[in-house]
Amino acid sequence: MPNNMEILIDRKQIADGVARIGQEITRDFAGQSVILVGVLKGACLFLSDLARQIDLEATFDFIAVRSYGTKKESAGEVQLIKDVTTPLEDKNVILVEDILDTGLTFTFLKKLLLARKPRTLKFAALLDKPSRRQMPVEADYVGFKIPDKFVVGYGLDYAERFRNLADICIFSEDAGK
Ligand code: 5GP
Repeated sequence: MPNNMEILIDRKQIADGVARIGQEITRDFAGQSVILVGVLKGACLFLSDLARQIDLEATFDFIAVRSYGTKKESAGEVQLIKDVTTPLEDKNVILVEDILDTGLTFTFLKKLLLARKPRTLKFAALLDKPSRRQMPVEADYVGFKIPDKFVVGYGLDYAERFRNLADICIFSEDAGK
């Protein structure tokens, strides 16, 4: 791990949080199948761990968006850059995101996916920064509520770096040099 990076949620806590969400989804969709739709790239580690904690028939797909802004702040405009390839009509769809922050990304994706007429649409976010919300949205499944700090690791990046850290860390400008 880079120097000066402070761990906010360590790998054991992450594993426990992911297992809990997996149990909640398994309970809520008992006897049914689900499609997990991961938002690239940040959610790919969360989705791969979560999928193994869901004791149901589950398939995956991926979607990618770009939000304009700086390395740390979204400017509020979200654009689709990769769509799912699976038909979602009448399916149980679970959108899997690394972090719910302002809510702009989820608001955009919710509208896009609801237009595909899924049977249900649920939202799983590993992290939630409620203090930064600009849109009135909440996740159905949340791993951890965190303070207003910029975090990296376990899929989350700073300019594409640090996604492979096993712990979720508070980003420090020193480590980014
Ligand atoms: P929202 O649209 O809810 O503001 O933001 C969602 C996206 O912003 C996340 O999928 C993630 O890409 C990015 N984001 C928000 N907060 C953080 C953070 O603390 N660290 C990192 N690495 N990305 C973040």
